[in-house]
Amino acid sequence: MIEKIEAEANQDYLTGLFNRRYLFREGELLLGQACQNNTPISVAIIDIDYFKRLNDGYGHDCGDAVLKIFSGYLVEKCADSMIARIGGEEFCLLMPGVEASKCNELLESIRTDMRDLPMSWHNELINVTFSAGVTDRIAVSLSTMISNADVELYRAKEFGRDRIQVAA
Ligand code: GH3
Ligand code: MG
Ligand code: MG
Repeated sequence: MIEKIEAEANQDYLTGLFNRRYLFREGELLLGQACQNNTPISVAIIDIDYFKRLNDGYGHDCGDAVLKIFSGYLVEKCADSMIARIGGEEFCLLMPGVEASKCNELLESIRTDMRDLPMSWHNELINVTFSAGVTDRIAVSLSTMISNADVELYRAKEFGRDRIQVAA
């Protein structure tokens, strides 16, 4: 019973991914370990593009289905990462032992898979894209690293979406 309550407190109900609270609590520990061991750690912030339009055009149920499918892609490709849903259509990946270039590669492969194999909703193909910001520059806290990744995400949006920006 307690285990069940605990799992629910740490998880996002829709996707089964970790939630924001869990990410900040456990992620800070992972960052501490990376600093201590002098090993890399990457943070990626991912945001689905034009998600509102998708909801408006196909309905909220479709939006929910897309969130679940997309979460599945993240789990499949980034099995060794901490994956959290931190907002409506926003996700955070924390990848211990992984440099930004490798994180970029993984996200790029999800991006091209999604382009080559569109999702379907009631027999209609829908093209879903995402933008992401990535950093592996160690900062004083996880929230600073997330803010730095967020800056890159905003640049990715500005540059036209459907792309991944890595912090210099
Ligand atoms: P951008 O490309 O700039 O990211 O545009 P966007 O439309 O993706 O972003 P915006 O912030 O305008 O819209 C996000 C939408 O996500 C609005 C909100 O109704 C929807 N949303 C938030 N949570 C959920 C959810 O759990 N399910 C569904 N279906 N929609 C959600
Ligand atoms: Mg958003
Ligand atoms: Mg969005």
